[in-house]
Amino acid sequence: MNSPVRAYQAVGGDPVFIERGEGAYVIDPDGKRYIDLVGAYGPLILGHAHPEVVAALQRQAAAGSSFGAPTEAETRLAELVVDNMPSVEMVRLVNSGTEATMSAIRVARAATERDLVVKFSGGYHGHADHLLAEAGSGVATMAVPGSPGVPAAFTDLTVVLPYNDVASVEAIFSARGSQVAAVIVEPVAGNMGVVEGSDAFLGALRRLSEAHGTVLIFDEVMSGFRLGLGGAEERIRIRPDLTCLGKVIGGGLPLAAYGGSARLMRLVAPMGPVYQAGTLSGNPMATAAGLATLGQLVVDPPYVRLDEAGARVQAALEESARLSGLRLTVNRAGSMLTPFFTVGPVVDYASARAADVEAYARLFHALLDRGVLVPPSQFEAWFLSTAVAGSAMDGLLSAVRAAMSSLSTV
Ligand code: PLP
Repeated sequence: MNSPVRAYQAVGGDPVFIERGEGAYVIDPDGKRYIDLVGAYGPLILGHAHPEVVAALQRQAAAGSSFGAPTEAETRLAELVVDNMPSVEMVRLVNSGTEATMSAIRVARAATERDLVVKFSGGYHGHADHLLAEAGSGVATMAVPGSPGVPAAFTDLTVVLPYNDVASVEAIFSARGSQVAAVIVEPVAGNMGVVEGSDAFLGALRRLSEAHGTVLIFDEVMSGFRLGLGGAEERIRIRPDLTCLGKVIGGGLPLAAYGGSARLMRLVAPMGPVYQAGTLSGNPMATAAGLATLGQLVVDPPYVRLDEAGARVQAALEESARLSGLRLTVNRAGSMLTPFFTVGPVVDYASARAADVEAYARLFHALLDRGVLVPPSQFEAWFLSTAVAGSAMDGLLSAVRAAMSSLSTV
């Protein structure tokens, strides 16, 4: 495995190997087809091997894969980000979400001349040392508090608070406000399963960061271009100082970004003193896939359709759970959703962890047996793509109903 969640440790059994993808489906080496709700953990909003993305990649492969020099295409991609994300005036392309958050925090620390970073438990911001504290995603799946190999001196500079808890945010700012360089948050969390930040919580983060000269970082690696062209920030109408992007903007290739106010971004080299660089940053292949994907999203925004598709899957889960006498809470933001076997509500990492993860594992296998692939962990989001429509959607809904009734307690 090259990333731990893929090992199926949380649900048991052997991982499905994938040979190819086609629209709504992935296909294993024996030719078995699965309706795919993993979506490469978020990037594939248009489904697998979308013809425009394939054509863009073929063109770019023939024209050369990397130059170590600026290209017009990366400038166009940057412009698309700036045009669509209200708070982003300047943007830098990097290779992974991990790099984006790591670099954004470096900028925040340089701008404030402070070291402390506030994050929220169950929030996952990639695997940079100082952010591997009570993280979600694979860290949550393996139920470990952090990671060996990370010096305590690093995580001493990270304060972890409960998500959606305004009182604890107020308390840290009143005790240590003048030391806090950055608050980093997933405005719609996807790495403890899907949990939306409340207006009160995100509003308090904005207000208190402003009052204390702290940089507010929205980690929209998952939600950017997934919930809408303006990401979560447009949906909640709160403007962060810096934003991290990844997944969808790379169209399935390794590409991510961080950006924000010109005042902060001008600190990054070569304009400013904050060093950050990359041999493959703004890589032409990744940029081509990203541009092709964002191009489709801009020309024909699919977000209303995706929201309706998400609502249909949610309704099928909820209704079939009720008929089967199962307690289920489904959290959903547009095309991202997570079923939790609990009465809920699920509003933070503690309530996500209170869900019955063994029941989730049974649902995972019941769906797999019926040709549907969902993330092999409670602490990930299910992603719908525009390709899950028509017969793929019909197949998905009937598999959901049949899988849930196989878990029936009545
Ligand atoms: N931030 C969020 C919100 C994520 O969901 C992820 C990955 O899942 C990351 C950061 C890290 O991105 P990457 O895996 O590309 O390093």
